[in-house]
Amino acid sequence: MTGEDPTTADATQVVAIDGPAGTGKSSVSRLLADEIGAQYLDTGAMYRAASLAVLRAGLAPDDEDAVANLVSGLTIDLRDRDGDTVVLLDDEDVSTAIRAADVTAAVSAVAANAAVREQMVRLQQEVAQGRFVVVEGRDIGTVVFPDAELKLFMTADTAVRACRRYKELTGKGMSVTMEEI
Ligand code: C5P
Repeated sequence: MTGEDPTTADATQVVAIDGPAGTGKSSVSRLLADEIGAQYLDTGAMYRAASLAVLRAGLAPDDEDAVANLVSGLTIDLRDRDGDTVVLLDDEDVSTAIRAADVTAAVSAVAANAAVREQMVRLQQEVAQGRFVVVEGRDIGTVVFPDAELKLFMTADTAVRACRRYKELTGKGMSVTMEEI
């Protein structure tokens, strides 16, 4: 590799999928990754892992400095196991724990933290390095992978989005109404 331009030697290929909540980004990303032989990179899982650590540390998700400080010391990694994403938080498999209701409630405050976002963006770029990936989530086609080979933006009717989120949450045993969603 010596002497080669690192940008042309880099085999990274990214399909970036963005769009509002409940439009089916995760489902489509998984199916697409399977179909084209790419790895699915679940960026929401990274923010969820950070949020789980915040809750475990007893911090308020909106305590910007404390959260930034804690998250800067975490090791978050995504692995592929038979097509499923395994999420590691300091080497512990937290793939199930990050789907808990309290994590879901905390994640948007943690994801709004600028220092956390900066760290997660770096991490997403590192994980994708040299790979063929389908990546889904906020900022993916703009901030994280502005040079992605393909950028898709998904939308859906508001009623359909609400219905999808309702089924997802009630399917996990949460008690919510369509009006709340
Ligand atoms: O996709 P999922 O619901 O697991 O994402 C959890 C949360 O993480 C989102 O609701 C959003 O607040 C945040 N997120 C983000 N940027 C991403 C992916 C997720 O801010 N790229």
